[in-house]
Parts: sequence; C-alpha cells; structure tokens
Amino acid sequence: MSIDESRECPNCKIGRCTKSTDTKTLEEYTICIDCGYLHKKYIQRDDKGNIILIDVSEGLVEDNMTRGEMLIDKPYGMAFYEIKHSGFNPMFPIENEEEYLNFVEFINSNADKIVQATISRFVDGEIKVEVIIDNREAYKDESLNRLRELEKNKEKLGKQPLFVDTNEEFDLPF
Ligand SMILES: [Zn+2]
Repeated sequence: MSIDESRECPNCKIGRCTKSTDTKTLEEYTICIDCGYLHKKYIQRDDKGNIILIDVSEGLVEDNMTRGEMLIDKPYGMAFYEIKHSGFNPMFPIENEEEYLNFVEFINSNADKIVQATISRFVDGEIKVEVIIDNREAYKDESLNRLRELEKNKEKLGKQPLFVDTNEEFDLPF
C-alpha cells in the first residue's frame, strides 16, 4: 500500500510537493513538481526487477535488502514535455545548467514530435515557468485532421478493425 501526502517543499516552500511511502517496502518518493526537488529512498533491484540482497543465503528479509537514496535538494528545475499522439508526458528534475541545455537541445531537435515543453524553476523567491515549445494550437488542428482521416479510412475499410500506429519512433535521452 502506498500513502500519499502533501507537504511543504524543503527547497522552495511554495511548490506542489508530495511524499509517497510504500508501507510494505518502506520506499519513499518525495517530489516537488514546481521546482524539481527530489528525495528518493528505494530498494535496489537488478535489471529484471529482483531485489538485490545483501546476503544471498539469507533470503528476502527486512534487513537483507540493499537500500539506496537519491537527493536533489537544490535542483535547477522541473522539466516537462508532451509527445504527440502518445499519451506520454515525461516529467523529471533537472539538476544543473548542463542538463538544462541538453534538455533544451533535445526538445528543439525533436520539435516536430512535441506538443509542449516547459521548465519550471524556483528563482528569486517565486516559481517561474519557461516555455521552450508550445505547439498546442497547431496540435489541436493536427489531431482533428488525423481524426477526420481515420473516419475516412473507416468508411473505406467498412467493418474491418482499424489499427493506427501512434508510437512513432522516438528516442528518449533520459
Ligand atoms: Zn519545491
């Protein structure tokens, strides 16, 4: 079971910060979606998702799990973007200026696949949102045209089921 609670952000104090606790594994996840503060306490797992044990002979007991911790207490900001026709809206903290520049470059070089992209930051005592790309208006038209196209094809295809590949090839850098 997981408990979610709102709390004051330890970094910006004004952003929307939540802490989720898994009552079974005692893993914790605290994130502020406005400034990018992140504090994670987790159990380490291998590539297959199996918990990494400290002593393999002891099996899966409380003190025998390898625990890890990650803290981004002074983030650069929180990145967000929305990919066209995917329902996929990644959101993640940006740690420093280098990551910020990489993110902006990534967004700009994939601009035709992106609906919108922003970075939210805590600067001079307030939350500021930098818009890198906003294609929402154009995307609305595009989606509408796509829908019309689908309707047309439906008529052509009659009762045949219609499958549309919405997952255009897309490499995520993060
Ligand atoms: Zn915050």
